[in-house]
Amino acid sequence: MNRIAKMGLLKSALKWKCPRCGEGELFTSRNPYKKGEMMEMHSHCEHCGLRYEREAGFFYGAMYVSYMLNIALFVNAVLIWYLFVEDLVDWRIYIGAYVLITILLVPLIYRFSRSIWLYMMIKYEPEKRGER
Ligand SMILES: [Zn+2]
Repeated sequence: MNRIAKMGLLKSALKWKCPRCGEGELFTSRNPYKKGEMMEMHSHCEHCGLRYEREAGFFYGAMYVSYMLNIALFVNAVLIWYLFVEDLVDWRIYIGAYVLITILLVPLIYRFSRSIWLYMMIKYEPEKRGER
């Protein structure tokens, strides 16, 4: 796969599109903060018919992606602290802001981790149709 095609895949992963066709939506609502639909996923892709949950417990793997995203967030927060903020803000306020931002990002991290996990496991085959 060439570089441009890989960039297209990254883009559709970040837009929460089907990993096989890049067209169908993964989640029932585009808004991750919509009450009651925060975590609701379609069972199948409405465009190519791919079944998203490959097997029972398939999305447990997304927890590892979520863990990696949270580690990246934490490392960035520590770097920002030492490089820019250390002399400006009290550390308790900084930690409070970090915790608040992390809580606010939960729906986004949940969605990105599921999307990235699907993209890691499913090959891009835009012509293919059916559940598998
Ligand atoms: Zn699809």
